[in-house]
Amino acid sequence: MAKKPIPPTTKKPATPPVATPKDESPSKTSGAGAAKSEASPEVSPAPGRPGSGQQGLAKAESSPKKGTGPRKGAVPGGAATLAPPAKTAEGPPRSGSAKGESPTAKPAAPSGVVTGASGRSVPTKEASASKPASSKGPASQAGAAERPAGTAAAPRPEARPGDVRPSESTAGPAEKGAPPPSAQAETPRPAAAQIRATEPAAAPAAEVPPSPSAPSGAESPVRPPAESEFEVEPRSEMLPEPGSEPEPEPAPHYESRPSLFIVHVTPEMAPVAKVGGLADVVFGLSRELAIRGNHVEIILPKYDNLRYDHIFQMHVVYQDLWVPWYEGAIHCTVYFSFVHDRKCFFIEPHSQDNFFNRGSLYGFRDDVLRFAFFSRAAIEFMWKAGKQPDIIHCHDWQTALLPVFLYEIYQPLGMHHPRVCLTIHNFKHQGVTGADLLHATGLHRPERFMAYERLGDNHHRGAINLLKGGIVYSNFVSTVSPRYAYETKEQGQGFGLEPTLHTHHMKYGGVVNGVDYDVWNPEVDHHIPVHYNVDTIDGKYDNKRALRQRLMLADNEKPIVAFIGRLDPQKGLELVRHGIFYSLGKGAQFVLLGSSPDHGINADFWGLKNMLNENPDCHLEIGFDEDLSHLIYAGADIILVPSQFEPCGLTQLIALRYGTIPVVRSVGGLADTVFDKDHSFHALHERNGYSFETYDNQGLESALGRAIDCYYEFPDHFRELMKNAMRSDNSWNHPGQDYLNIYDFIRHR
Ligand code: ADP
Repeated sequence: MAKKPIPPTTKKPATPPVATPKDESPSKTSGAGAAKSEASPEVSPAPGRPGSGQQGLAKAESSPKKGTGPRKGAVPGGAATLAPPAKTAEGPPRSGSAKGESPTAKPAAPSGVVTGASGRSVPTKEASASKPASSKGPASQAGAAERPAGTAAAPRPEARPGDVRPSESTAGPAEKGAPPPSAQAETPRPAAAQIRATEPAAAPAAEVPPSPSAPSGAESPVRPPAESEFEVEPRSEMLPEPGSEPEPEPAPHYESRPSLFIVHVTPEMAPVAKVGGLADVVFGLSRELAIRGNHVEIILPKYDNLRYDHIFQMHVVYQDLWVPWYEGAIHCTVYFSFVHDRKCFFIEPHSQDNFFNRGSLYGFRDDVLRFAFFSRAAIEFMWKAGKQPDIIHCHDWQTALLPVFLYEIYQPLGMHHPRVCLTIHNFKHQGVTGADLLHATGLHRPERFMAYERLGDNHHRGAINLLKGGIVYSNFVSTVSPRYAYETKEQGQGFGLEPTLHTHHMKYGGVVNGVDYDVWNPEVDHHIPVHYNVDTIDGKYDNKRALRQRLMLADNEKPIVAFIGRLDPQKGLELVRHGIFYSLGKGAQFVLLGSSPDHGINADFWGLKNMLNENPDCHLEIGFDEDLSHLIYAGADIILVPSQFEPCGLTQLIALRYGTIPVVRSVGGLADTVFDKDHSFHALHERNGYSFETYDNQGLESALGRAIDCYYEFPDHFRELMKNAMRSDNSWNHPGQDYLNIYDFIRHR
């Protein structure tokens, strides 16, 4: 057979160049690794996860020759159970105590938990029986007058952009001792909601920590920004003018409720700065919150590689923001712009550190320093601009220091109102670093912050852990599925943070991500040639033809199995490799779209690509291509997600919307959203895919084999499954409400 040229759409040379840091191509020998992996894949069980053999199956209509079916019913626990509150050895700092040491635990008032059939769970809003009296109102001039010199000091007049200059003093309240009494909450109270569906009936008696204390802003009205919000002036000129605030957008179809001022502080947002699912979550959630009548803003770093084609009306709103840093301060400029209706602020530091002008978001030795700076800059901006949101919503380790800054530095200055929700999208990355960072960021008492109950890393003596600090100091910590919340706390998936999650379990829970159906919807998707919905499902096959044409695959009756994702070990790369060969052997076609910052992994997949280049039923696309991903979701029949662990997973959620059947390993969010056609507790009409438990080739075959067999032998059943998939509601509707419940919960504490 003539060698199949790499399709022009791929924009890759037929023979990829040798791998270099910039172009992700293999060395000549790299293919061997990939081939070897297929022959005898290295199985890497998920850490802390005992291997489990495959069990016998209930009879399925297809009779896979290899392997056995998935084992279901291993869902831990039953109804959500709240452990009784107890005292804790590990707890957050309390500004209510004289020096913040030895926090005293208060019993938590457990909240009710409503668990939906889909595994979603929603904290019921608890009546706040005892609200602490607010020790201070919103930021005021008086608050500014109280500000210790230097912490949020005005720049020297002679300072110029690019200067890093010493400030008068960087000593914040933390450095100066306990916060002034007026800045301390009277009663630290535990944030006591637990959102989880899979908690074991006999939860371990974890100790209840106090949550970061803050005077309640319960009386505080919603505080939408002033008319001139996007022309931000220095704080002294930005006094709140309640009367001048714009009306929130009407949301007639939602229950009437007070609107909130919510600020997301995030390292990523689709499509302007996207690496993974976090970016999609911020984009989709912020929209959902806004259409429900809340005022939502997003603060991002101003990376040099932002997708400016999606950024509109960018202009400077805060020219001279001086962010305390080491003994000095870094001059920053803040820009405002709309990104598809989202109101975004971009912070641009001017310093030789060149924090965000690196050509990519991550992968640098000083990443922890870069994002610690961003966190400090974001809250400094809010403070100087007079913003006191109801909720600051932080994401991942990159912004996990922000609640630490809030409660240790800014609350004593007068920033009493905001409450913080931290969403952890992946526990694998935590931001572990040395104590020097404390000095850089103005957390000047290392003995305080390096303590085990605060930022001290659970395993590395002398190191601080930013994500841990975020857990300790936030008012609520969510992760992106109830199952992952359980796995991280109970099943060794917390990458060392399990004890911390146990300590803070009363403010920890999971909310499954949604998908933005404005973007991911085959009825309106402008990336695909033929639109379709559940009633015109045959349109999917026109997209299948278009996908084959674009990737130069043979036009035949075979199903197309696809993989889309980062080529990260987390995604189960051994099983992806095996899935390619297994699918081809079972009479299916295979399409892969993925890339990795790891050159070795990329080289392996380039080797595999070269090896399979002449196969008319296979195409591997090594790279990131949003446009192609839409066509694959629309044109493929089956999507493979065999992850070692998966906090939520968006690929299966998107695939469901396009009627592409997910074959997943039953972990994390995959377990919460994909219900096996043959083995599930869910009603028949809710079953939408195939799943397997054990991380090995046989496990994968047990599910993928059934999917391919069903496609060939029971096409009507496969079609019904596609319709079930398309009818699954994975929009932001439910998660949006879940987050509002969380916000309400912490707002009144
Ligand atoms: P993670 O956040 O771990 O990367 P998710 O499944 O939560 O994984 O989100 C992945 C998102 O990134 C999905 O929207 C997926 O379509 C997209 N994506 C991943 N890899 C690629 C790629 N190579 N090209 C285009 N889109 C990709």
